[in-house]
Amino acid sequence: MIIGENIHKSFGDLEVLKGIDLHVKPQEVVVLVGVSGSGKSTLLRCFNFLEEMNSGKITIDGKVINPKKDKLADVRADVGMVFQHFNLFPHKTALENVIEAPVTVKKMDKEKAKQLGMELLEKVGLAEKANVYPSKLSGGQKQRVAIARALAMQPKVLLFDEPTSALDPELVGEVLQVMKQLAEEGMTMVVVTHEMKFAKEVADRIIMLDKGVIIESADPKTFFENPKNERTRQFIQLVQ
Ligand code: ADP
Ligand code: MG
Repeated sequence: MIIGENIHKSFGDLEVLKGIDLHVKPQEVVVLVGVSGSGKSTLLRCFNFLEEMNSGKITIDGKVINPKKDKLADVRADVGMVFQHFNLFPHKTALENVIEAPVTVKKMDKEKAKQLGMELLEKVGLAEKANVYPSKLSGGQKQRVAIARALAMQPKVLLFDEPTSALDPELVGEVLQVMKQLAEEGMTMVVVTHEMKFAKEVADRIIMLDKGVIIESADPKTFFENPKNERTRQFIQLVQ
């Protein structure tokens, strides 16, 4: 569904991604782990062209993306992103946040968008908060609105960048639950997270990034019980 080939990215002299190859199959859930600064966010941002690669190739659902020619708004419609800090529009209600992109980018009829928006808020358990502003929502509720907003573009892939890292511990579960449900429904997902229980339960594959290189790629059982790389072993000891 999404293929990254030989992705290189530097910021000035700092080489952050050193030739990443990552193939994500339809309906696959890939969890991306690695210590802070290893390049996880940069990789996700390259995948939806929020970051310009120095070199490399990205194919989405069979189509090679040319960032110079293709409309990036259309690419981002296919590759949704959920951020650590939600990034909701503060002056828009939950429902208005969800329907913003379908109406402005996809030119969806407003009534139709509202109907879709309500269905998505229902799906994340927040139909009753449709007319509430983000400032009146908990962190977990804001993140669930952000997930509904990403889904509103009917993406082919959803990228999550530490979606629960900014949440109070008691609010983490409700967001992971929604993500787990999406995974079960067959959404293709790449998830950066430190929630190892989620990784064990939901991931088809766990990938470890270390200094801009993929050093491990395995199913959860192999990843935790029989990792190949010494750095992965050290990482597992830290997080468990
Ligand atoms: P992770 O998400 O794994 O913590 P990041 O992808 O955020 O890692 O960052 C990888 C490295 O790239 C870090 O050293 C970070 O400081 C650097 N970096 C990230 N974004 C920028 C930027 N816009 N300008 C300069 N350096 C950056
Ligand atoms: Mg990051």
